[in-house]
Amino acid sequence: MQYRNGYSMLGYGCMRFTSRNGNIDYEKTKSEIKRAYELGVNYFDTAYIYPGSEEVLGRILEELEIRDKIILTTKLPQYLVRNRAALDKYLDEELKRLRTDYLDNYLMHHMTDIAQWEKLVSLGVTDWLDEQKKAGKIRHVGFSFHGNTDMFIKILNAYDWDLCLIQYNYLDENSQAGRKGVEAVAEKGIPLFIMEPLRGGKLVNLLPDKAKKEIAEDKHGWSAAEWAFRWLWNQKEITCVLSGMNSIEMLEENCRIASEAEIDGFGDEEFAMIDRIKGYINETMKVTCTGCKYCMPCPKGVDIPAVFSCYNHMYSENKATGRKEFFQTIALRREPAMPSQCVKCGKCESHCPQVIAIRDELVRAQKELMPWYSRIWYRIARRVMVG
Ligand code: SF4
Ligand code: SF4
Repeated sequence: MQYRNGYSMLGYGCMRFTSRNGNIDYEKTKSEIKRAYELGVNYFDTAYIYPGSEEVLGRILEELEIRDKIILTTKLPQYLVRNRAALDKYLDEELKRLRTDYLDNYLMHHMTDIAQWEKLVSLGVTDWLDEQKKAGKIRHVGFSFHGNTDMFIKILNAYDWDLCLIQYNYLDENSQAGRKGVEAVAEKGIPLFIMEPLRGGKLVNLLPDKAKKEIAEDKHGWSAAEWAFRWLWNQKEITCVLSGMNSIEMLEENCRIASEAEIDGFGDEEFAMIDRIKGYINETMKVTCTGCKYCMPCPKGVDIPAVFSCYNHMYSENKATGRKEFFQTIALRREPAMPSQCVKCGKCESHCPQVIAIRDELVRAQKELMPWYSRIWYRIARRVMVG
């Protein structure tokens, strides 16, 4: 295992432990965590809302007697917090579940909009965090993010964070926090953690056949997952990449890659391979948007490239993925940037180098990203998560 800033380059994502008959398979999970620790993984990431995860992880760490030897991260369900008392309630409950009296890292979970942070600030979260740090209950404070680049930069600059966690992989280089977000974190000099390195497994299972064939025939002998991991660890700004690992085999393979991957290990040849894989994925896309943003800003607030990115993911991956991303990054913003806000002024189209019929495509995107049956869910989700 290699380490960056004291963190193992590979972190253990504890969102989905293996379950059996509806419950987490405790013994299997324990043996996987034990093996991960033996192989040098020192970073474990869970959250309040991952079903059963905190309780199981806490019990395993206690039984293996490794709590003080690892770095433990969990997350505040900030979207459920309505008053200051709730901050104490969630933290105390999480400490109890995790069988510990301190957290190495405590993240504001699933931030998508600066308005969420502003709400927490209005409830006194900054003083509260200072108090918890002084009391030794929390050592470092950060946030996990699912939104667009501009919003990421706003949240990053809104507080003196100790770390952050973003979705990032070679397909998200220009979406979510994106490469621009990675560079902004590096400028702050704080550790950067990565989730979804394989885009939920899609950079492995759902690659187009042409990409799979090229990977299989390539002289490096790397798997599709290895290409994705190595692309990330090639970047010096990245501290640790999280992976949810549900077998010893996968764990050992990922640890092997993490022990070999190098900063700036990619040359022209490797980057060209990634570009070709992306090219094959892009061939399956619906709209030829490159995310250049020349069409922005839209006077009505539509986030045109972000909408097209989600719309494309419905086709390059699957419908559920595109819709989930749409809800996370667009529909749940305080100021929504929905395709339905378009008034067809046409201003954007004159700037688009890809000559996309943006107005027509937005109509199609709205229809597919938000089918009629999702509208009630959307209203409820906005009430709960945005307020
Ligand atoms: S046509 Fe629609 S999306 Fe384009 S600038 Fe006008 S309102 Fe915005
Ligand atoms: S200008 Fe065209 S290609 Fe660029 S982001 Fe806008 S829609 Fe996409």
